[in-house]
Amino acid sequence: MMEARTRIDLSALITAVADTIAAHADELTALDQAIGDGDHGLNMKRGFEAVRAEAASLAEKPLPDAIKAIGTKLVMTVGGASGPLFGTLFMALGKEISPEPSRADFAAALGKANDAVAARGKSQIGQKTMLDVLYPVHAAVAAGKSLREIEAAADEAAEATKPMKAIRGRASFLGERSIGHVDAGARSTALIVRAITETLEPA
Ligand code: ADP
Ligand code: MG
Repeated sequence: MMEARTRIDLSALITAVADTIAAHADELTALDQAIGDGDHGLNMKRGFEAVRAEAASLAEKPLPDAIKAIGTKLVMTVGGASGPLFGTLFMALGKEISPEPSRADFAAALGKANDAVAARGKSQIGQKTMLDVLYPVHAAVAAGKSLREIEAAADEAAEATKPMKAIRGRASFLGERSIGHVDAGARSTALIVRAITETLEPA
């Protein structure tokens, strides 16, 4: 377990996440068109551009406050089902994290943030949602995996939503017909994870 405390360049992380969401907005929209209403790409892009617009002031805040503020901004700007859920993820993460988190601190905070999303969404792993990426990422972080292993776990977990039947969210209205498509929120979660890992440690 890595116990060194890292100083985090939040502005670089925000830029990387907003860039990847913008670059993949059409793909996220297409995924949501297949089994939802086709707004996920635009929802996420609107939210992370709003966060990007405040990157400089966010980066001046202590890390917990900055992450909480990101969550609040996402709730206000993303919309749809995913806005309150990604908002909850960041608000809870900010509430739980320490100002200069060790890997173990981060793992513990992420676990609690995931549980907050599950409570908010009345959802759990295996229901073809963002949680199907968030929990495997938490497991990889908690197990002390490398950043390359964590991003690979996120991508695999997103892909693994393809054969699942949706039990929560709009895609659940399709029942069996939701099978055979990657969940849009799972994909956006994996994109966020990779943007973060690649910024922390370029491949
Ligand atoms: P909407 O479904 O309102 O159009 P989005 O398209 O922005 O909202 O987001 C859809 C994504 O939100 C889904 O792909 C899924 O990952 C996630 N999601 C929806 N409902 C839930 C829930 N109850 N729990 C966890 N994640 C959910
Ligand atoms: Mg949608």
